Amino acid sequence: MSTVLVIGAGGVSSVCVHKMAMNADIFADIHLASRTKSKCDSIAQSVKERTGQNVATYEIDAEEVPAMVNLIRKVQPSLVVNLALPYQDLPIMDACLEAGVHYLDTANYEPKDEARFEYKWQWAYHDRFKQAGIMALLGSGFDPGVTSVFTMWLKKHKLKTIRQLDILDCNGGDHGQHFATNFNPEINIREITAPARHWENGAFVETPALAKKVEFDFEAVGPKNMYMMYHEELESLARFVPELERARFWMTFGDQYITHLTVLQNVGMTSIEPVKYQGREIVPLQFLAAVLPKPESLGETTKGKTNIGVIATGEALDGPNGEKGGEKTFYINNICDHEDAYAETGNQAVSYTTGVPAMIGSAMVLQGAWKGPNGQGGVFNMEEFDPDPFMEMLNAHGLPWNVAELEGPVGF
Ligand code: NDP
Repeated sequence: MSTVLVIGAGGVSSVCVHKMAMNADIFADIHLASRTKSKCDSIAQSVKERTGQNVATYEIDAEEVPAMVNLIRKVQPSLVVNLALPYQDLPIMDACLEAGVHYLDTANYEPKDEARFEYKWQWAYHDRFKQAGIMALLGSGFDPGVTSVFTMWLKKHKLKTIRQLDILDCNGGDHGQHFATNFNPEINIREITAPARHWENGAFVETPALAKKVEFDFEAVGPKNMYMMYHEELESLARFVPELERARFWMTFGDQYITHLTVLQNVGMTSIEPVKYQGREIVPLQFLAAVLPKPESLGETTKGKTNIGVIATGEALDGPNGEKGGEKTFYINNICDHEDAYAETGNQAVSYTTGVPAMIGSAMVLQGAWKGPNGQGGVFNMEEFDPDPFMEMLNAHGLPWNVAELEGPVGF
């Protein structure tokens, strides 16, 4: 039974805190802090109504390290769960180091002035976390997060080596709005408008954003256009699955979404370069994010399903008598219903598919199922741990998965 401090009060945090409260045997004492305390209070109220559990709330600017350290010392959690924005990763890691507490997040650090999506800044904390005897678990959402766990499960149970990997992220949900993003608009648009990068023969290959499009027939959703783009788990997968010859990430977008995004980009509204407006500097993308629908407001109207998974091709594990399995391809995925997610936690499936793995990753750390070699601390990615206990919890806590053998490698 542990005390946990969650930072951030958006859609992902809301799901994670609800799920923690539903598992009071693991998360006995839940504390929630964010920049706007009223958002924490409304999550706490919903949690109380749905589960009967209390959540203590606080106001915090997570970029103020001394204030974060004070809050951690006051709450005395065993783990700080960072569900604010990627910009806050490093200050929160600094505060965890100073206070000697484990850390977890769902997205890698990004400097505000460049959309880079790299692990290098956080990996550089490894020795300091090791010395302090605490651990940081990076990227415990769905993608990154579950997609890496899916890959490592295939590598443990089906494939000796993985030659080719494709991550397919489909959101078949319809929220009835002309244009809206399903998680933080600023981070989402930075990600989508960045050049695409995929891993091929030992290096990243860069191509223009949204230039490669393929139609794929997703179970429970139907045919959708998906676009190749860069996603941060490609970096950790390339590091921890070194035999990979090719790894790519695909995300679906409707034509209407692409049309709006193209226009906004063409007129400069997605830029992160500050411009002078009425005597003060504003960042066009931040202004755009302020006028777009809030992701947490979409839950009530969103219908349809998400289908996110991994297709991996490689050399199959040997049979029970040592017989060679040859090359095989497996598809492992989860299908999540927006309306079911909303009924359970008051949030749509994109927040749900991120918040549940954040809860599960927290359970892995708090229960000691995942820890560094010889119990030592450090900064770790999802690929470095046994996938089995995490996969069991996915089945038990609302994100059941399915694995199927395909006839052969993907043809796109
Ligand atoms: P939201 O924008 O809905 O919520 C972010 C929250 O962080 C808000 O409550 C915001 O406060 C708070 N916040 C921002 N800055 C600070 C600060 N300086 N100090 C304290 N709190 C702050 O985002 P989401 O819930 O959609 O996403 C949360 C995280 O999850 C993001 O990092 C996102 O990239 C990640 N994510 C990961 C996915 C995965 O699969 N791995 C998928 C989807 C999202 P305020 O309300 O005052 O603005």
